[in-house]
Amino acid sequence: MKLYAKRFYSPSGWLEDKTLVIEDGLIVAINPGRDSEAQVAGGPIIPGMVNCHSHAFQRAFAGMSEQGSEGKDSFWTWRKVMYGFLQQVTPEQTQVIATQLYIEMLKAGYTSVAEFHYLHHQSDGTTYANRAEMSERIFMAANASGIALTHLPVLYRYSGFGSLAANQGQRRFLNDAEQFNRLVSDCMELSKKYSQCRVGMAPHSLRATSLPLLNETIEHLRKLDPQAPIHIHIAEQQKEVDDCLAWQNKRPVQWLFENQSVDKHWCLIHATHLSETERKTLAHSGAVAGICPTTEANLGDGIFPTTQYLQEGGAIAIGSDSHISVNPIEELRWLEYVQRLVKQQRAILATPEQPSVGGNLWQRAASGGAQSIGRDCGELAIGKKADLLVLDQSQLSLFAHSNQHLLDSLIFASHKNPVADVMVAGNWVIRDGQHTLAESSANDYRAVLKKLSAAL
Ligand SMILES: [Zn+2]
Repeated sequence: MKLYAKRFYSPSGWLEDKTLVIEDGLIVAINPGRDSEAQVAGGPIIPGMVNCHSHAFQRAFAGMSEQGSEGKDSFWTWRKVMYGFLQQVTPEQTQVIATQLYIEMLKAGYTSVAEFHYLHHQSDGTTYANRAEMSERIFMAANASGIALTHLPVLYRYSGFGSLAANQGQRRFLNDAEQFNRLVSDCMELSKKYSQCRVGMAPHSLRATSLPLLNETIEHLRKLDPQAPIHIHIAEQQKEVDDCLAWQNKRPVQWLFENQSVDKHWCLIHATHLSETERKTLAHSGAVAGICPTTEANLGDGIFPTTQYLQEGGAIAIGSDSHISVNPIEELRWLEYVQRLVKQQRAILATPEQPSVGGNLWQRAASGGAQSIGRDCGELAIGKKADLLVLDQSQLSLFAHSNQHLLDSLIFASHKNPVADVMVAGNWVIRDGQHTLAESSANDYRAVLKKLSAAL
């Protein structure tokens, strides 16, 4: 297919009056002028955003742990609500929740997602007849919605540093190395049945794994796919850092770099609490920092040192994690605003080459996100996946005045969803803000939510 763009955002800035030629899901040519056979985009085109971190089922209890006053909610009480919730959720319900969530993501401008998937077993901890039952539900949800998926089965074994025994609430997550390796192999097989998906793995965290377990499972993954992405929760809460120090007298990021070959295939989720040395090591390693600004704010985690890290050349991606928000614009707005509040300055996350904060953040998060999920997307350029968004021209005309300010206006001044059309690998999945499954999915989701909430 061919798509004419009056203007689109390329890695070198806005280009005007071009026709994108798309074959087999890839941009194969960018020709000057309007091709007579081309569809005409109704507004400016920008790269689709990558969501580097999702726990799909958590969408269903977003907002259920926000109570103040006596015994007020914390990260750890939120986790208790989460454990209570996930005791009950069935494979069918997981699929319904994930389908609804992925439709919401597409509407908001995410064209791909990395699903950090740790709900593997039945409530009592026994495996399903199909070991990859829960993973398959995620594949089916992504496939139905049309979002591109990087599926990351989670390695989870222990409840704390030093191989502490797991607790009751964690039974659905647990695998030993052999079971986990079989699950990863099964997921690799499954991924062949679905388009626009790939498989990596996610050690849940240092506290939930051990060095021998990491070595054995990463070795297995690398045999199957030497380039597969590896994601890990690394230093989300200060308590996690303190516990790691108590365990080995090392900070989590420090320990990880000393014990694993962390390279461009790794993504460190919530690398929130970093020493200066850790921050520089991460920035120079080629790995990606997966930042989830709204979830990190919601859970009171802390502030990632984005300003220094970007100045040091670090790669970033954004994720919606707990799905308290499903909106890349809001994530990027928070990323900048938190830095402004801390530093009492304005327009911080820009560079001399890219003075537009909005342009800089959108492109860096899309490119870093693409790297983090192992998908050739995130840039509108020849050879890249045709994962793109067409913005609503009628809305933009109200607040975005020129190419120079368009992405700044989008991130800081838009109040309604400005995404009109969404394409994933050359297929339209959202047209005029609508998804074909939106109504049936919402009905199914409502019914699931009613049932799950009643049982809490
Ligand atoms: Zn997470």
